Order: sequence, then structure tokens, then C-alpha cells
Amino acid sequence: MFTQDLKEKYYFLTEYFEQGFKSSNRELAHSILFYGHDIESQYAIAMEIARLLNCKEFQNENCKCLNCNWIREKQHPAVLTISKIDNKPSDDDSKTVISVKQSQMIKNSLLNTSDYHRVFIFCDAEMRGEKWVPLGLNETNFHAETANSLLKVIEEPPENTTFFFLTRDKNDLLETIISRSQSFFVPSYDVEDKNHSTVEDVFSQYLELERKDSLDFAQDLFLISKEHGSEKVLNEIQNYLLFLLKSNFENSYAKAKILNDLKLVELAKQMINNHINPQLAFEDMCLNFR
Ligand SMILES: [Zn+2]
Repeated sequence: MFTQDLKEKYYFLTEYFEQGFKSSNRELAHSILFYGHDIESQYAIAMEIARLLNCKEFQNENCKCLNCNWIREKQHPAVLTISKIDNKPSDDDSKTVISVKQSQMIKNSLLNTSDYHRVFIFCDAEMRGEKWVPLGLNETNFHAETANSLLKVIEEPPENTTFFFLTRDKNDLLETIISRSQSFFVPSYDVEDKNHSTVEDVFSQYLELERKDSLDFAQDLFLISKEHGSEKVLNEIQNYLLFLLKSNFENSYAKAKILNDLKLVELAKQMINNHINPQLAFEDMCLNFR
């Protein structure tokens, strides 16, 4: 399954996808959106998922099958990075954006059947000297016109096709893409992004929290969010829970609780993105905390 390195850094995410792979019908969204500051890690996770979807042999970190090798060398014919500098049709002279021609190329390629699991990773990218560096999508490099030309195929892709969208901030992408995708926050391990100072006080009670206190707890968080914004507060809650997860890795009760509650934080974000009153979203989250 996932490489040890990714498993250690992204326990929650990798566990989630591994469970999806194990399920009988390989439950996996057709369109997956990663967001957070660390685009290189988002790209690594997307490539690793592409590898696991295409591996025909051992499914492990060291598998040397043709598909795994191709993907490690970024040579796989069905695993394509789509950026302003990657995978452009020959008649495409756009330099600064993912173009409608690229979108058309993808749609044409999907008309043919394939034995592979096709994966398209949408991101921005640039060359820094010899090094290719993935960057996040935003409205400057991924225009509405291009995004809109993809909507139908994202919604109803052919079998065995997965799209990834990588971005720093979900608000940099069109609502129409967000609403068709399953979103995952990929935490950054840069010190400044791991901050959880605004929720620390409230969350110091988290592991001892009793059901009767849930609404008060939600109210405290809601008050903080009025000052700092609910997105920041929910991100910091995720950071705090991930920090707690590390220090409670041997405690199976705490670990199960934290993993469960991390999903609820993601759900609260989705509710708020779908214009549900933040106070209700916080209450719903806290009442369901395990
Ligand atoms: Zn393999």
C-alpha cells in the first residue's frame, strides 16, 4: 500500500484511501480535490494513489511491476499531469494556463477504452532550473472556461478514471469543480502552517469532553470563528487533532476518536462551503464528536 513516508505523515488520508481500495467495489470518488499549502505532498499522494490503482502485482512500496515503475518515472501512458507546461497538444501555444485544447485532448482520449486506470492530475507547475515543481491551481492558471469544459466528464467519467485537483486554497477553484469533487485537506508540515493557537485553549478539554458539554464547546468555537473566520478555525482544529494523534498513537481509544472526529471537521467545512450557518455546522460537529 502507501509508502511508509506518506503513511507516517498523512495517517488519516492514507488510511482513508487504503480502506477505499480494500472495499469490494473500490469506492473512490471520480474527482478528488486536495487543498493546503504543501502542493508537493499533494502531488506525491495523488501519484501514489495512481500507482496503487494501476499496480497489477504486489501493491507494496517496493513493487517493481511495469505500472509501478512507469509511474515512479512519470512515464505512465495513462497517468497524466495536466498543467500549463505539461501534456499540451502540439497545436497548443498557450503558455500561462491549462487550455481548453488540453481539456479537449483529455475528452478525446476518454472516448477510447483503456486497460489502465486513467488518472489526470491537474495542477500548476514551473521549472526551477532542472527541477519540475508542482504548484497550486487558481483562477489565473485554470480559467473558468477550461474548468467548465471539463464539468461533464468530471461528473460522469468513463469507468476507471480519476481526476485530481491540487490547490492551496479551495476558494481559488470554481464552485462547480468543488461541488463535483470530494475534498481533502492535506496538512502542511511547515511550522507556520501547523499552527493551532487560536483553538488551543478550547481544545485543551477535548479528550475529556462530555456529551452534555458539546453545545457549550461548539459555542466557544463559534465565537472564535466570528473573530478569526470559520475556515481558519477548522483548519486549526485539524492541525490540533493531528498533533494530538501523534502523541496518542499507542492509545487505541484516543486514536479511533481522533480519526472519527477529523472526518467531522472535514464535514463541517463542507457544510459551511455549502452555505449552512456556521453555528449549526459547529454544533453538528461537536454533537457527533465521539
Ligand atoms: Zn506494482
